[in-house]
Amino acid sequence: MPEIVRFAPSPTGEIHIGNARTALYNYAVALTTGGSFILRYDDTDTERSEQRYAEAIAADLAWLGIVPARVERQSDRIPLYDAAAARLKAAGLLYACYETPDELERKRALQRARGRPPVYDRAGLALTDAERAAFEAEGRRPHWRFRLPDGQRTWDDRCRGEQRVNLDAVSDPVLVRADGSYLYTFTSVVDDLDMGVTLVVRGEDHITNTGVQLALFEALGGAAPAFGHHNLLTRADGEPLSKRDNPLSLTRLRAASIEPMAVASLAVLTGTSNPVEPVADLGALAARADLSAISRSPATFDPADVERLNAALLHEMPFAAVADWLAETCGVTDPAVWEALRGNLSVRTDILPWVAILRDGPAVVPVGPSDRPVLQAARDALPPEPWDEATFKAWTGAVKTATGAKGKALFMPLRLALTGEASGPELAPILRLLGRAEADRRLGAALSQID
Ligand code: GLU
Repeated sequence: MPEIVRFAPSPTGEIHIGNARTALYNYAVALTTGGSFILRYDDTDTERSEQRYAEAIAADLAWLGIVPARVERQSDRIPLYDAAAARLKAAGLLYACYETPDELERKRALQRARGRPPVYDRAGLALTDAERAAFEAEGRRPHWRFRLPDGQRTWDDRCRGEQRVNLDAVSDPVLVRADGSYLYTFTSVVDDLDMGVTLVVRGEDHITNTGVQLALFEALGGAAPAFGHHNLLTRADGEPLSKRDNPLSLTRLRAASIEPMAVASLAVLTGTSNPVEPVADLGALAARADLSAISRSPATFDPADVERLNAALLHEMPFAAVADWLAETCGVTDPAVWEALRGNLSVRTDILPWVAILRDGPAVVPVGPSDRPVLQAARDALPPEPWDEATFKAWTGAVKTATGAKGKALFMPLRLALTGEASGPELAPILRLLGRAEADRRLGAALSQID
């Protein structure tokens, strides 16, 4: 069945790899069922929501390859929420409360002291018209709570199997703040109904909300979507990833030249029964994004995995996947250059100094007198062109025979003379890319430096 899903971030900060997990699981459902993916900004909290974060989220999703079928902002949809709130009020299900935050805190402290759960006592529901008028006369403005039904709500969670929330242990949720703004507990339900959302995939921190929202779907007279709650990505110390100051924000990973598919592969596969490995494209990853394969325990996430997967992805990446970027960034159009260098890259931009070395030669060649015999023999043994895959082995074999040098004593002077670096990509393809004339020139330059 084609599923209609949505990703509903609050634009109050940069999204991180944990948010990408939610977005990607939803997108995978849309892709694999031929459904559609809605990007819906939960921006009714006007104090904390910012346009720059909404833009960054759109850019981050595009970078991951997520193309929403529809983009909505809750701040554009207030009349819809007003109408739904009016219906709940008329049904006596949304009631005015006048407690200040301090008064609520005192109530909770008292309940705790008596060994009772700190559930709201519904004092607002019992207010007479005269009492309400007195509060208003004091200058108080009400916030509005939803009267929860009794009992429990259960559902068959797509990730976790049967789930239940006992609503008797939950406070009637505030749906409208004193300033008249709506909370997403409410706006999400109104929107999910209006947009025909059929499946909500989100983090397990929302499980209690789901119990509450199922009651809201009933109160508004609509069919609730199915739900799936995935485990959360946590740092190695068990702490949740935060939206603030997060080195794993997508914006920062992107700025650090990390590959989107490294991030996407990690975001989807960590904390599941599937191996965490780089997957080349979103279509293939979507096929592996199995909601029922997600573990119940938190998914600890090692930031070093980002680099590990990124490198592994680059080492296998076909030229076609980077051709445009290479041409634009450093004018490279020869697939052999990419193939010679990719095995040495941690991030794609690591290739730039190597392209410069291939093109212009090393700035400094740190060789000394002890390197002279190998370098001289190497220069003498350079075979005539055309060269092929066997050339490097034949050439170094000849140098070994001529000098008796082997291992590091043989290869290090050659590496230094040809690249100026003590480590780097495999030498054989580098030699081939340089060609005979350039290799001869570099060996000659290294020798004359020793003189
Ligand atoms: N803005 C909420 C969040 O980011 C949305 C929750 C939901 O998906 O319903 O946690």
